[in-house]
This record gives sequence, C-alpha cells and structure tokens, in this order.
Amino acid sequence: MLLSVLRENSGEYAGLFSRAKAEVGHAECLCRTPAQRLVIRCSRAGRYHLAGWPSEGEQHEAACSFHKLAPGLSGREAYSAEAIREGDNGVSIRLEAILARSLTEPRTAKASVEQREGRSRRAVGLLGLLHWLWEESQLTAWHPRWRRRNWWICHARLRQQIETCFINQDPANTALYIVPPFHRDTADQNIAAFEAFKARLGRHGPKEHRGLILGEIKAVTPTQYGARYALAHQRAPIFASAALDERVRRSCRHVFAEAGTGHDARRVGLFLVEVSRKGHVTIVDMAAMLLSRLYIPADSSHEVAMCNALADHGRAFIKPVRYDGIDAVFPDFVLTDVPNAYVEVYGIRGHEDYEKRKRAKQAHYQRQGAELIEWEVAEPMPDLSKRYGRGQTR
Ligand SMILES: [Zn+2]
Repeated sequence: MLLSVLRENSGEYAGLFSRAKAEVGHAECLCRTPAQRLVIRCSRAGRYHLAGWPSEGEQHEAACSFHKLAPGLSGREAYSAEAIREGDNGVSIRLEAILARSLTEPRTAKASVEQREGRSRRAVGLLGLLHWLWEESQLTAWHPRWRRRNWWICHARLRQQIETCFINQDPANTALYIVPPFHRDTADQNIAAFEAFKARLGRHGPKEHRGLILGEIKAVTPTQYGARYALAHQRAPIFASAALDERVRRSCRHVFAEAGTGHDARRVGLFLVEVSRKGHVTIVDMAAMLLSRLYIPADSSHEVAMCNALADHGRAFIKPVRYDGIDAVFPDFVLTDVPNAYVEVYGIRGHEDYEKRKRAKQAHYQRQGAELIEWEVAEPMPDLSKRYGRGQTR
C-alpha cells in the first residue's frame, strides 16, 4: 500500500494498524528486500502513524520516506534518552527553554539540565529542535525523484512530524505554530489559527505561557526598539529587541550575512515568543538556519550554491545537521545515489586550524576509500555529475 494513501486515510485503516500492532508488533516498508521494520504509533487522539525503526534508517532505499543517514552522521547522537525520548505514543522532547512558568512557585534554576558536552545533553536547545524537526521530516535530504519542494510541502511534513510529538509535556501542535502556506481560500482560517495560538500565550491562571513559531524569514527591518521579522505566508510580523537582534546576528552570522541572501538562499527561524501588553508577539529567543532553494540546510552561502548545483545535476544527497553541538564535525554533504561518497566545500584559505582540519578530513576519507568531491570556493565548481568508476565507488 502506498504510504501517502495510508497517511491521508489513517482513520479508514485504523483496524489494519491496530491489528498489525497487536499481532506483529510492527509494520513493514517494502522499499527494499528484505522488508524493513517500521514503528506503529498511536497518538493520544487515536490516530495511527508510521515511523522509521530507531537507528535503521540507513537500510531504507535513498528515496524512501524512512531513509536516514547512519546515526554517526547526526548531531542527535549527543542527547541522552531523557532529552529526546521515543515511545509507542510518539516522541517527547525536553526543551531547554521554559514554555510554561508557574507564577506561584519560586523560579527554579535550570542549570541542572545543562550538561552541555559529550553524548549526554539532557535537554534540547532551539537550534537542536529546529534541526531535529528538519531531519525527522526528511527536509535535510534531496532526491531527484521528489521533483519539487516548496513551503507547502515543508509545512505538511513538519505538521505530520509534530502530530505525535510532545515538547516539555505539551502536545507539540499546540506549543508550536508552524506558519501555514498562504492560500486565498484558507486565509481566514489561518488568521484564526494564529489568533488561537496567540490567545494561549501570556498569563492564564497560575501560569505564564510562551510559545514557539516556525516560519520562513522574508525580511528583517530595523524598528525604533529593535527589529521586525516579516515571515513568508504570514501577515502579522513578530518583533525582537535590539539586544536580541544583535546577539542573533552575531551568533548566526552566516544566516544573516549579505552574501547569504543571494544564490537562491532561504532562511528559516524557530522563535520562542511571548505576547506584549499591547498584543504584539515578541521574540524572547530564536534559532535560524540558512537554506538552499529546496529548503535544505547549508552552513554558508557557498554551501547554498553547492546544494543548488547538486540538485541541478540530479544528485541525491543529505546535509548532516549538528543540532546544538557546535564542535561536531560532519561531511558538508553526503551523496546517497552512490555508496560512500561525500562533498566538502572549502571556504576559508590560509587559516592554519582550518587547513589542518581539512587535511585530517581528506586523510579520513582516503582511509575509508570514499569518493570525495571537493570545492575550493575560489576555483570553479567541480564536475558534479554522477560518474561510476570515479575514486573507489564501483
Ligand atoms: Zn523504506
């Protein structure tokens, strides 16, 4: 049965799902022989969902909806089981940021959850959550068979992903507002959904609520007090203080640099927000990503150019993402239409540390017998077409 049919009509097939869950314990993906196991999840609302089996994503075919990179190629490895917990009913995420604060109990220090390095991060930061959402929704990957990707597709996949997800014990689809794609027929409905999300923010009884907004950043313009973020597909802007705006521009320089806006680049932000007394949505904290034309993450404008060129050459590839781990070292891109092949983009020249790391990476690929496509950005882009017999591949 086609996955799209199952997803769109999961109610009709509820009997089939529940029988498979009770009798076999799992579902099967037929993208390859032998079939691969899939997890059957049931949301609190009683809707069934299929998910990839943990750590087995690599065994699916590259264009399959459940295909993933090997676990070693994702920043997700750095989290403990309490930070991202996968269970029968879905995924529970422990976010570092506080979404609901009790007004009656004294503030508790959150330092206890911040054990930052190693494989034991006990909570997920905003960038970690953004990367998790992107990776789980397979938006870090591209395959020519998918033909197109726009915000409509991103939104649908992300919504699907959060349907069986909890963030700090709240259902993710109430805590997180993903800006829906604009369409005249649904415009009023979308405005109502945003108003409902806003109404949850602020003081309610003994608690003060914050929320999360995920959307494509269209423009950032200075205001008297800071900056105004206009999001694509959404009429109401959101606002950042001057201090926050400055901090974000410093820490995500590659996202907001002038060069990042060329090359068909896009930007997406995950915003932690509250509502001001005047009813404006204000940004308390945020994470941002630079993306290619096809919404695939990139760490620099050069990577955006590479990403767009790979897609233009009909290549299938995945961008490994770091989550909150700033020091993690991954290939810039992993090609998935040939075995054991990687792409590296070298943007900095003459910097000693950088040169050293580059040589270490090259030696590592050579030891592995991997195919490596390298681009020194001062040089013309290398040939990206798929050729067998290059390096050690076939
Ligand atoms: Zn599969």
